[in-house]
Amino acid sequence: MEITPYYNKQITCIHCGKNFTTTKIRKSTIKVLETESDFHQIYQGVNPLYYNVFVCEHCGLAFTSEFSTYFAPGTKEILVNRICSNWKPHSFNGERTLEQAIQSYQLAIICGEIKKESHVLLAGLALRTAWLYRELGKLDWESRFLESARAEYIDSYLHGDYQRTAMTEMKVLFLIGELSRRLNDSETATKYFSKIIEQQRSSTEIAIIKKTIEIWQEMRGEKTIEIN
Ligand SMILES: [Zn+2]
Repeated sequence: MEITPYYNKQITCIHCGKNFTTTKIRKSTIKVLETESDFHQIYQGVNPLYYNVFVCEHCGLAFTSEFSTYFAPGTKEILVNRICSNWKPHSFNGERTLEQAIQSYQLAIICGEIKKESHVLLAGLALRTAWLYRELGKLDWESRFLESARAEYIDSYLHGDYQRTAMTEMKVLFLIGELSRRLNDSETATKYFSKIIEQQRSSTEIAIIKKTIEIWQEMRGEKTIEIN
């Protein structure tokens, strides 16, 4: 008998305090086929990325397990005005289409911005939205979200707010470099990749360094061809 990859989870909304059901994917059913250079994973079968965002069916708040439960003064009022008062109660529970998944991330970005979540969290949401647009084949929208992910990662690097998460400085630097390269901004890509290369002897993050050197050589190769 085949096990369904889906299961339901009860979530308590961090804003209105009401409970709702959200669909999640069983870890044992997740199969990664390929990981792209910006860590986008391509799955066989169900894509767990579609189910990361919880959307409260009662008040419309969209959030992930990484959102803080703290609301800075005034932010609850802005959420009520901009999100909850326009929300027609409906559920995001059950199987999500790619379009619904994108909608859930875009809602989470708006809520996260109003709630003043960290730059690294907002960067992660924007990067995932870009990946979903890539899967949809909408490359202009992918670029738009890669741009905003990069801007948030740069702010995160400058303010150091990634330090409280699983992200490391090397990974943040790599993503700024790689997203810049994908956005055809080789000047910024070079600037951030070189920060990684400078640390190659002192850092223990061998995989990131190896990857950077590979991309670096590839970029230099491309440049030589252009000059010739
Ligand atoms: Zn709620």
